[in-house]
Amino acid sequence: METSVLIVEDEVAIVTMLRYNLEREGFRVYSTGDGEEAVTMVKEYHPDIVVLDWMLPSMTGIEICKQIRWHQDTKNIPIIMLSARGEESDRIRGLDVGADDYMVKPFSPSELVARIKAVFRRMRPSITEQKLEYAGVKMDLATHKVLRNGLEVHLSPTEFGLLRYLVEHPKRVFSREQLLDSVWGHDIYVELRTVDVHIRRLRKALNYDGNQPDIIRTVRAAGYAIDGDGESL
Ligand code: CA
Repeated sequence: METSVLIVEDEVAIVTMLRYNLEREGFRVYSTGDGEEAVTMVKEYHPDIVVLDWMLPSMTGIEICKQIRWHQDTKNIPIIMLSARGEESDRIRGLDVGADDYMVKPFSPSELVARIKAVFRRMRPSITEQKLEYAGVKMDLATHKVLRNGLEVHLSPTEFGLLRYLVEHPKRVFSREQLLDSVWGHDIYVELRTVDVHIRRLRKALNYDGNQPDIIRTVRAAGYAIDGDGESL
């Protein structure tokens, strides 16, 4: 089955360049330069991934990202944000509204392709072991369904990959570098701070009603671990 990518970008030269490179890699490419049309296309075509520019004429990429995350049918679609804004606060904001990755312009098409592949790697279901369970958290690796104490937890592909890695190694403390290497992959450069943002989102998702013990342990100057006894420490 063809993997489809929706490019949301109003700069024609960038769309042409990305389309050429993505089609060469075997992706099916849709594109639009209009924010509202992008939201409609996401619902209609259900692309496997959205590459979303921040600055668009009718709606910002941040707004589109929120809308994609808001709708039940589209909220699990991975999003890579593009922006000329390289400030750390902008990157964090992009990730905070639900993007899975963030790239600063100018970037090379091959780096974008590598990052798209990395997102899919994080989502890839396991064939050997289909289910994981730890401290009341159940993960179905084939369907990407996550339950905590019987209630469904909604995670983006990146948070799913992060949780999966932690649950596979309970109580072990991982540095941000180790998590980046294992969850994001070696072939892309991601800032360490990105890990903190996704950990924060993961924590929030796992504590859906505000009454759950926090099972993600932050170890000062060392990193993070998943620990079912965490609340008593
Ligand atoms: Ca633009």
